[in-house]
Amino acid sequence: MKKIALLGSTGSIGTQTLDIVREQKDLEVVALAAGSNLLLLEKQIREFHPKLAVLWEEKAASDLRNRVQDLPIKVLYGMEGLLEIAVMPESEILVTAIVGMLGIRPTIAAVEAGKTIALANKETLVTAGHIIMPLAKANHVDILPVDSEHSAIFQSLNGEKGNSIHKILLTASGGPFRGKKREQLQEVQVEDALRHPNWSMGKKITIDSATMVNKGLEVMEARWLFDVGLEQIEVVVHPQSVIHSMVEYEDGAVIAQLGTPDMRLPIQYALYYPKRRSLSGKRLDFYQLANLTFEEPDYTTFQGLALAFAAMKQGGNIPTAYNAANEKAVSLFLERQISFLEIPEIIQASMEQCSFEKQPNVDKILETEAEVYSFIESRW
Ligand code: NDP
Repeated sequence: MKKIALLGSTGSIGTQTLDIVREQKDLEVVALAAGSNLLLLEKQIREFHPKLAVLWEEKAASDLRNRVQDLPIKVLYGMEGLLEIAVMPESEILVTAIVGMLGIRPTIAAVEAGKTIALANKETLVTAGHIIMPLAKANHVDILPVDSEHSAIFQSLNGEKGNSIHKILLTASGGPFRGKKREQLQEVQVEDALRHPNWSMGKKITIDSATMVNKGLEVMEARWLFDVGLEQIEVVVHPQSVIHSMVEYEDGAVIAQLGTPDMRLPIQYALYYPKRRSLSGKRLDFYQLANLTFEEPDYTTFQGLALAFAAMKQGGNIPTAYNAANEKAVSLFLERQISFLEIPEIIQASMEQCSFEKQPNVDKILETEAEVYSFIESRW
């Protein structure tokens, strides 16, 4: 039995991870953590019997503790709880499927404790890649990507040890507003932005796909995961989402991974790496694939993507400012307090006002996040 601990078990990636546990019979869930969804977490506890469960608030954790009194389980709350999950001796793999920078400290703790990381929480690498990647190397820990594009790149690197990457071709669906110009996006509503053409995901990442900020975050994530320069990463809009990303080698050969848009595949690949397992669900039918098309991204309309390259180029704590500003702006958009086009405006303003720090430690990263939040609160 392979033992996994799961942060963010009630979310889109978390529930799909548990689908895999349900389907494969040799994974044991030793810990689960969620934010506030007590009822679903209780259901998951009763089904998967973890030894430890965490909710963010003390009161919610105490309610949960009362509800699962009949079970041999410890219930904790807050960051302390997440950190305890990260280092618990019973776990081999930590799946980080929470949203936001909350993932940084548990990931660092788990790496230090020698746990394999199945990483969905891209914000962790975007903001703290310069800390986590060297730490993982020093501790001989694998950081296995769960993001479908990064998993595709990772799979395309198999068997190529010693061959250097010429270019990473990071594919993007283009989201629901592909082909639109700025003027056409002025009146966009939350419901329009939540209508992703191919993938079913959490709300925040779905809005990020509509603005293409998600692709920007993925560019930064790829830079850290695969240790390449920014100039080696090319975003290719591929609306059918069949090719999940590609690697071009020195000789011009391009290796790609293809599949149906199903996050369970990259999650399962990370859980069993380097083994492949059977997986239920739809398969690609090449007779049905009418055509695969490719476009250059529109950096003028999707300014959030251009800003990601700028943030990464500046480095230091600027990617943190980018990410924090986006998180805040997306929640304001979801609350209908700002317009769709204000999201990149807020990101740009936040990057410009951020006081630069070349090598931010975790405290400085979290301080930058707080400063960006209060800057946005004072202006919007
Ligand atoms: P969701 O919003 O669906 O889920 C987020 C999870 O995090 C929930 O379980 C939530 O709990 C939990 N959470 C939120 N706040 C806290 C907290 N304070 N303490 C503990 N847990 C908390 O997000 P997704 O599953 O879509 O995304 C998760 C991560 O994976 C993100 O970083 C995203 O960018 C990345 N990702 C997602 C993909 C997808 O297909 N969804 C694809 C690739 C990457 P609760 O339900 O209680 O709020």
